[in-house]
Amino acid sequence: MAQELPKTTAESSNYRATSRYSDVIDFISAIQRIDPGIRVETFATTNEGRALPLVIAGPPGVVDPRTAQASGLPIVFIMANIHAGEVEGKEAAQMVLRDLVSSSRKLRERMIVLIAPIYNADGNEQISTEHRKTQNGPPEGVGVRENAQGLDLNRDYMKLESPEARGLIANVLNRWDPLMTVDLHTTNGSFHGYQLTYAPPLNPNAPSDIIDFERDTLLPQIRSAMRENHHKETYYYGNFLNQLTPEKGWYTFDSRPRFGNNYVGLRNRFTILSEAYSYIDFRARVDVTYEFLHEILNAVDKHSRKMMRIAARADRAKLKKQGVRFEIKPWKETEILWEKCVPDDGANLGPENLGETPHHLRRTGKIVPVKMVDYGVFAATEKDDVPYAFLVDAGAHDAIANLLTHGIIVEKLTRETPLDVEQFVVKEASRSEHAFQKHDELTLSGKWKGRRESVPAGTYVVRMDQPLARLAFYLLDPRSDDGLFDWNYFDSMIEESIAPVQRIDKSVPLDATIVSKP
Ligand SMILES: [Zn+2]
Repeated sequence: MAQELPKTTAESSNYRATSRYSDVIDFISAIQRIDPGIRVETFATTNEGRALPLVIAGPPGVVDPRTAQASGLPIVFIMANIHAGEVEGKEAAQMVLRDLVSSSRKLRERMIVLIAPIYNADGNEQISTEHRKTQNGPPEGVGVRENAQGLDLNRDYMKLESPEARGLIANVLNRWDPLMTVDLHTTNGSFHGYQLTYAPPLNPNAPSDIIDFERDTLLPQIRSAMRENHHKETYYYGNFLNQLTPEKGWYTFDSRPRFGNNYVGLRNRFTILSEAYSYIDFRARVDVTYEFLHEILNAVDKHSRKMMRIAARADRAKLKKQGVRFEIKPWKETEILWEKCVPDDGANLGPENLGETPHHLRRTGKIVPVKMVDYGVFAATEKDDVPYAFLVDAGAHDAIANLLTHGIIVEKLTRETPLDVEQFVVKEASRSEHAFQKHDELTLSGKWKGRRESVPAGTYVVRMDQPLARLAFYLLDPRSDDGLFDWNYFDSMIEESIAPVQRIDKSVPLDATIVSKP
């Protein structure tokens, strides 16, 4: 080896510190000096002006999306530090990158790995020992959850209000179209017996073939590999409803696509959310995340042909009905590793996220399997028909800009056209009581009503026979729990209870042209 392999900040500080932005940039430069085949793009520029690096590690000649597509190889995208207090993913991703120019070089003959090691770079630079105090290191501190706008990037996947999220969607997910996206976090919830927990897409509007393949094949194989190769226990992400009475059940989190794992599912691609366990020390969290990443790469390597077929089939699927509201439901009864805790009014060890558990409890260090129901899945409580197309009023510039950033194909009527349309008549509009991510989310109820209308030229058309139809439906249906109505995109456009989005039920020829900007 002409050059010595670089060390991460975690390694060189003996796991006392995590990388700063400049450390990550220096590490990537050192890797590039070792292997000229490694390329680096900027996928977004943060509010504070930091260029976010995307490292491309593929076989010789694969240097951009065109050569990547021509290679026919699967693309795995590893993203870390979306929450900049949750730092081990950033360290583990750099270690995996180093392996891809050394011990795991051969893997690059069979896949392309994209790495965004420091997504929330602005949050990262706020490193302080005051953040995430219940987390077990690193002792020199971590960054903050939010970006410089005060937004949580893992709630911004649908509304796209941050330059980071817009860049991620446009320049990574649309441009490169990764088959598998891995999103690295640290959990700080219940006390359990797993070094790392994980989740597939949780929204049931995602293709069932994708969800089933992850739950039936991919995740169980990765879990076994973690046990056999690394002697570590992992399981689906969740929290005990009550830490003191675990038999009440294990609950996953949320089905809405504002979360990255759910969003990627709606794009017909595979994804794994990884949550290292906050209460094991920093080095152990780096190690388990690093091992988990390698086992994911191995599993994708093994199943890539099948996964590519499933994804391609999902892109062509014709949708009939999709959910608009969802509820959590029991998945199965199983044994889950619980850390026995006892009430202790003297100690205040409670993490923030313990459901109905009182904050005063004492950990015992004793891990035991407990039989309980895993509430790990969601079901639609209300569904709507998927139309042939949605029509969006010509004045909805912000909404159209949002759809285009997502990569959705939007057209514009080139002449006035008489059409049988359905209008959404709002019956009730309610706003969330508390602002969330600076929004008072809007929940609509109402009915579709048919009428004959002469639709003006310039009206936008979003047909559902396109690969991102699941996502387009979720964004445009007025009753959707995470769509553009919910995020106030249309607040000023609802006139006399008529929503500015209509639909056409049946296939009809349209004089329309594809637009690239509103
Ligand atoms: Zn997180």
